[in-house]
Amino acid sequence: MDGTLSPKPARPTARGRMFFANPGPTNIPDSVLLATARASVDFNDPNFIAVYDACVAGLKRVLKTEQHVFFYTASGHGAWEACLVNTLSPGDLVLIPDTGYFSDSWAKMCGGLGIAVQMVGADWRRGCDIAAIEAALAADKDHRIKAVCAVHNETAAGTRLPIEAVRAAMDRVGHPALLMADTISSLGSYDFRMDEWGVDVCVGGSQKGLMLPAGFSFNGASEKAMAAHRASTHPRHYFDWTEMLTRRHRSFVGTIPVTLFYGLQEALRLLLEEEGLDQVFARHARLGRGVRAAVQTWSANNGPQLFCQNPERLSDSVTAILMPQGHNAEDVRRIALERFNVSLGGGLGKLGGQVFRIGHLGDLNEPMVIGTLGAVEMALELAGVPHGKGGVQAALEEFARAG
Ligand SMILES: *Cc1c(COP(=O)(O)O)cnc(C)c1O
Repeated sequence: MDGTLSPKPARPTARGRMFFANPGPTNIPDSVLLATARASVDFNDPNFIAVYDACVAGLKRVLKTEQHVFFYTASGHGAWEACLVNTLSPGDLVLIPDTGYFSDSWAKMCGGLGIAVQMVGADWRRGCDIAAIEAALAADKDHRIKAVCAVHNETAAGTRLPIEAVRAAMDRVGHPALLMADTISSLGSYDFRMDEWGVDVCVGGSQKGLMLPAGFSFNGASEKAMAAHRASTHPRHYFDWTEMLTRRHRSFVGTIPVTLFYGLQEALRLLLEEEGLDQVFARHARLGRGVRAAVQTWSANNGPQLFCQNPERLSDSVTAILMPQGHNAEDVRRIALERFNVSLGGGLGKLGGQVFRIGHLGDLNEPMVIGTLGAVEMALELAGVPHGKGGVQAALEEFARAG
């Protein structure tokens, strides 16, 4: 720590492109980077307002909503906090399906904000049972639960929670709680339908499927959420929706991160116009299948295996890989980075050292994923981790399938 501002010498392997396989932040497309490289613009400039309006309209198409959107200059945690303080009051109770590290972090945040939490217990390797969520709601006869806070894609476990099934469970028991969905690592990677699924508040962030730098997040809010907002007594100011609605952009308390909107405009153009959302979803599904084909092959000989054991809950945006006993995932990550300039996600919280993660969301194609899988296979060999050979070959075969 000599305090120098000059960059350290590059790693000897840092030639060519780094293969960046973290499940967030993700690769930023060159055209998005270029769109953000601009001189300052007044956020009330009519040219910027046109960009802003186009971004709001485009983001609503990605969220599949015609309701309200509020933005924050904050990472996803800011939008998590915003949805709680805008719709709930101190002492309110929320129900949280325990999908993994991110559901636990959201619960911890509730604690810090004076909101009580009831967790729905689950095996992180199988995902939370819808029947268990339904039973918890059915048992809540006097409707003390004010919101169900569900993580659509549990980035730490590589599992998906079907939000539409959570909504159906709430409807079957006639529970009036708000449905809040964290779509931070699913939006722009696989389908999310805010209005059709009856989601009252959704939480999104910039640096995952939207392929932008971090530091920018948002909520979608339904009319029911807006009514809850008017009744909520939680102290708030920067995140206050009523305060925002008095502003010209009907969002943002304070300066708007203008350059991120130029980036968002380009990212939305790529998703909605150049590739098309359905093609984006099909690509992520394909990339997920290829990664899983490789992991299934490595899992022979007591090798690393898929963390998610429930085929119905596999995530299309991230795969978590569980190491065999006695081997440390951090060794694989270190070798991949130092020898091959490939960045992998680590295990979070109590999964630290046991799990590494391959993000397959955002600006990625098959050859990039093959490159990452190749580095992982070499790193397993170099770290002395037992594994079945031919994981990359299995992914090649998956990707070479017609259709
Ligand atoms: C990344 C992530 C978050 C946290 O977002 P930050 O931008 O890191 O604050 C929350 N939930 C999920 C599911 C995530 O993947």
